[in-house]
Amino acid sequence: MMKPSYIRVVIDRAIHRQLDYSVPETLAERVDVGSRVRVPFRDKSALATVVATLEQSNVGGIRPIEAIVGEGPVLSEPLLELAKWMSAYYCCPIETVMRSLLPQVIRKAEIGWKKQLFLQPARKIDNEEFENLRKRAPRQAELLEAIVRLNSPIRAAELLRKTSLDNQTLRALAKRGLVELREEAVERDPHAGEQFVATSKLELNAEQAAALKQIADALASPENPRPILVHGVTGSGKTEIYLQAIRAALDRGRSAIVLVPEISLTPQTVERFKGRFAEARDAVAVLHSHLSGGERHDEWHKIHSGRARIVIGARSAVFAPLKNLALIIVDEEHETTYKQEEAPRYHARDVAVVRAKIEKCTVVLGSATPSLESYHNATTGKYELATLTQRVDERQMPLMRIVDLRQVRRKEKTMSILSEKLLQAIADRLEKREQTILFLNRRGFSTSLLCSNCGEARDCPNCSVALTFHRHAARLSCHLCGHTAAVPKKCPACGQDALIYAGFGTEKVESTVAQIFPKAIVRRMDADSMTRKDAYRETLRNFRVGKIDILVGTQMIAKGLHFPNVTLVGIINADLALHLPDFRAGERTFQLLTQVAGRAGRGERTGEVFVQTYTPFSPSVQFARQHDFAGYFQQELEFRERCDFPPFKHAILITVRSAHEGRAKLSAETLVRRLKEALGSEFILGDATPAPLQKLQGQFRFHILLRGGAIMRLSRLVRETLDKLPFPEDVAVAVDVDPYQLL
Ligand code: ADP
Ligand code: ZN
Repeated sequence: MMKPSYIRVVIDRAIHRQLDYSVPETLAERVDVGSRVRVPFRDKSALATVVATLEQSNVGGIRPIEAIVGEGPVLSEPLLELAKWMSAYYCCPIETVMRSLLPQVIRKAEIGWKKQLFLQPARKIDNEEFENLRKRAPRQAELLEAIVRLNSPIRAAELLRKTSLDNQTLRALAKRGLVELREEAVERDPHAGEQFVATSKLELNAEQAAALKQIADALASPENPRPILVHGVTGSGKTEIYLQAIRAALDRGRSAIVLVPEISLTPQTVERFKGRFAEARDAVAVLHSHLSGGERHDEWHKIHSGRARIVIGARSAVFAPLKNLALIIVDEEHETTYKQEEAPRYHARDVAVVRAKIEKCTVVLGSATPSLESYHNATTGKYELATLTQRVDERQMPLMRIVDLRQVRRKEKTMSILSEKLLQAIADRLEKREQTILFLNRRGFSTSLLCSNCGEARDCPNCSVALTFHRHAARLSCHLCGHTAAVPKKCPACGQDALIYAGFGTEKVESTVAQIFPKAIVRRMDADSMTRKDAYRETLRNFRVGKIDILVGTQMIAKGLHFPNVTLVGIINADLALHLPDFRAGERTFQLLTQVAGRAGRGERTGEVFVQTYTPFSPSVQFARQHDFAGYFQQELEFRERCDFPPFKHAILITVRSAHEGRAKLSAETLVRRLKEALGSEFILGDATPAPLQKLQGQFRFHILLRGGAIMRLSRLVRETLDKLPFPEDVAVAVDVDPYQLL
């Protein structure tokens, strides 16, 4: 490497430009592209990432960098290239992209290795010397004896605990020159103390073998690999294919990333990967949002140094600093949690596809319910397709029974949460000692508190939604901003004692079921009941071993879990997602029904699923009932094409918000006028409209939706237009490319 005289950097603050600095002779050896440095910026100093080394710079008054931060480059060239692509595509400054690319502990280098004192005898000590020491300082002698007996370096803290001697004695020994103290870095292992049972590969069935061969072929010819979409019904053995594909990558001396949605990063999942690659404890690194800063630091370095060659993690693991990357697997690729809902608003699946292109590696997308975008790419030949139509061991797909809630309402008069048919099915399972999952995608007890006299509902003061009643906490709370309030005794509006609770959530389902089946053990799993650390793990364990008969939960229980004794799944209300003002509402409903249904009948007995709905004839419900992905895909695709929605057009959603309603509206309207001037007629530009969720956290929100084929060009035009427009200080603008959140 040539010693650079100048460097170009991106500092950690969004200033929308790159800066040049000179490099003092003494630091030049250690600076390279991807290094972190401290530089003078205005009258302070700032942290920055080196994006280029230069021989010359024609910037006047150039200043030298102050220091190098951390050890060596932290970003590889391919990752830098990825950052540049993200900046252009997602219409956001590269400084913001960097924030996601590098974990904070690495960017700031505030946390280092955990150091511990190790000790060993400094030299050979003869008997006479021991005798002398015993007389003069018996405790020191005792300690020394213990050290000599061990015959290998030991952690100081551990030894002192074992011998119940103190630090002072140890220091005295060191001072005599009899023991040697050494500081060493020790790793914080988030899975310390856990044992992973080694597993070996399973004999694949024909469909699995064909899919694996497609992946292996791609691994063998890395020049121009196409992404491979593995469409396999729930329980078709996709994970086993991933495991064997990773083995193939390792055999080639290369590395792999597995992305899973955060909620399916369960102990069960981690165990499967750690167990298969148990030959080296370090081989698999795990990245997720619950790691401590220290653990994250250590896992990151384990990956960066090449010791870990498999990374399993949620969204941001797509940036894992592996070298020699051969394979990226995106499991449950349709999951919307892959989309980050703050800047940079990237989608990890799409970033994975681009990273794979840059690093010339294979990318595998897997799902039982692929997103419309990915399946469309597979049918047009942009992606390869591998299909698994069978569950392993020819287990049957569950029987889907639709319960028409309109009829139930007419017949049973009162609006009960669980229909008679579903109740009978639960009773039947309890008798047979089989397990039941009840799914409802809404937390809380009652979804609103209404006055039957004046009709007033208790709304959140900050957001345009009703407050949810939580019986256990005995409070009203807003699920959007977290605002909570006491439960009023009388209607605050009219003063009458006429408050009624309307609508229901998981908490009420749980208590209703417990009332009807007093002998059954019922547990609830949602964001309210799972606040205690380990609660999630514990509940799943109890469910697995049969200590729970009925598990009630939100989407937390919809994904990836595998319980052979669950033979009944009840979907309490299938319509919740369908009526959102979102062009993906139908797609989400189909996916959710199929995924939740996939939890049933994973053992010997065929599963049964009850879908309670007011819209039994909606396509999403009907196609899910028939397990007919192709049929559903076809009709949904036609709808998207007719309406110019993805995958036919890309969309960009601009949100303009302010605490001052008029200013937000005016700014949004001005922006639309400017966009109209800037954009050609090939783009579809909507008006500035109040967002469906008009008020959120005290801010009034307006939406502008843009659509077009050439997304890069559209992104650039939007950026340029925004850069030229001065917005009032209390107005914020957010740009979301390929949006998933349309509320
Ligand atoms: P998916 O990821 O498609 O939902 P999994 O990979 O979790 O499916 O497989 C479901 C179950 O079947 C797991 O318990 C797995 O160990 C088992 N399994 C997978 N492939 C095979 C196979 N070829 N032979 C026997 N069992 C298998
Ligand atoms: Zn609120």
